[in-house]
Amino acid sequence: MKNIKNIAIIGGGPSGLMGAEIIASAGHRVTIYDAMPTVGRKFLLAGRGGLNLTHSEPLDKFTARYFESSNWLKPYIGDFNPQKLRKWCEELGEETFIGTSGRVFPRNMKASPLLRAWLKRLDNLGVNFCLRHSWQGFDGEDLIFSDAQEKTIKVKADATLLALGGASWPHLGSDGSWVGILSKCGVKISELRPSNCGFVANWSQYLINKFAGTPLKSIALRHQDFSQKGEIILTKQGIEGGPVYALSSSLREAIKRDGKAVLYLDLRPEMSVAKLAQKLQDRSKKSLSNYLRKSGFNEVASVLLNELIPQNQLSNADSKMLANYLKNLPITLTSTTQIARAISTAGGVTRESVDENFMLKAKSGVFVAGEMLDWEAPTGGYLLQGCFSTAVASAKGILSFVERE
Ligand SMILES: Cc1cc2nc3c(=O)[nH]c(=O)nc-3n(C[C@H](O)[C@H](O)[C@H](O)COP(=O)(O)OP(=O)(O)OC[C@H]3O[C@@H](n4cnc5c(N)ncnc54)[C@H](O)[C@@H]3O)c2cc1C
Repeated sequence: MKNIKNIAIIGGGPSGLMGAEIIASAGHRVTIYDAMPTVGRKFLLAGRGGLNLTHSEPLDKFTARYFESSNWLKPYIGDFNPQKLRKWCEELGEETFIGTSGRVFPRNMKASPLLRAWLKRLDNLGVNFCLRHSWQGFDGEDLIFSDAQEKTIKVKADATLLALGGASWPHLGSDGSWVGILSKCGVKISELRPSNCGFVANWSQYLINKFAGTPLKSIALRHQDFSQKGEIILTKQGIEGGPVYALSSSLREAIKRDGKAVLYLDLRPEMSVAKLAQKLQDRSKKSLSNYLRKSGFNEVASVLLNELIPQNQLSNADSKMLANYLKNLPITLTSTTQIARAISTAGGVTRESVDENFMLKAKSGVFVAGEMLDWEAPTGGYLLQGCFSTAVASAKGILSFVERE
């Protein structure tokens, strides 16, 4: 007869729920603890943007998206790969499709039906939920929680999966408070930093008053060797949007190193400088804004030119120079916007702190999964795939740990 074990999963986001499914399917008693009154809150928020589950590109290209963690995560993403994730989703009744960019979504672009079906499956597997239970740390081998009445509760488990997420959108549950707990246990943690986030630029009050909230469509951004096309938004603080998120890792690290980063904005990525210069008409005595408007640019282009190019360079610029400026507007960024509004978190439990099954070397029987591990990736489905794949691996690690005798 099977020796049934008690497994505690702390954190009911996609990582914790996936861990629970695998362990409960193997016949063990699983309890999910979460600080919030309901689980999967960030997953539901991700659903508001269409729930980009994963990406359809070839696996080598896919795994290269995880920056320095690519080699680390490659075997886990290879094991529970994007095809398996799609199959899992479809078995829960949610058909998936590949969008024009290669990104994979559930057909109805929502997280709520998928989460509902998933929770029903977990319920059928006998998974228990202890909600409003905030994890406070360890007391020897026991887990300590504080419940809704702030009563301290001690829990004994044969193995534990920590799936506590990063530190963005803390009001949805993941606030990074686990960093202090694990650091005290000797776990090495790389500082939690915003990823896929906005950046602060020193805009003039004029630009803020008139153009905060303005989208810039079909542009490209360039930082060092990376460039990304898409749409960005000028904000009161600076800039936001897909291409900014895609470059966020390199921008953030450059700011950390040099105190600032210069990002180049190309307002006409589909045209060469020479072609654009040709298109720009003779300026003669026209004001800059009039001149640009007549050449197909909207008002924000001349405001950005005035904001970002020194006046003495602008006043005498010929069409070739102006074309060059319009394709290389240097935006100086001085910091990321706050982590609380970032899509994801970089940093976390380091690779050296866990074994190949994501078990903490400093705490036998305690495993880690998802965004709390030290990896980052751009948007495009890589975040959820990383969470699911590491959760599958750590859950399998728990099964071999508790079934080892
Ligand atoms: C606006 C937005 C849109 C996104 N869109 C996408 C997308 O389309 N595609 C994609 O791939 N990714 C997307 N993401 C990222 C994705 O949602 C996260 O990477 C993913 O939810 C992380 O999963 P996780 O289970 O590791 O952590 P989380 O989802 O953060 O779950 C952690 C859980 O742990 C609980 N918890 C934390 N601390 C404690 C504690 N001390 N005690 C008890 N419980 C605790 C929390 O309440 C929470 O339920 C998006 C994120 C945001 C913010």
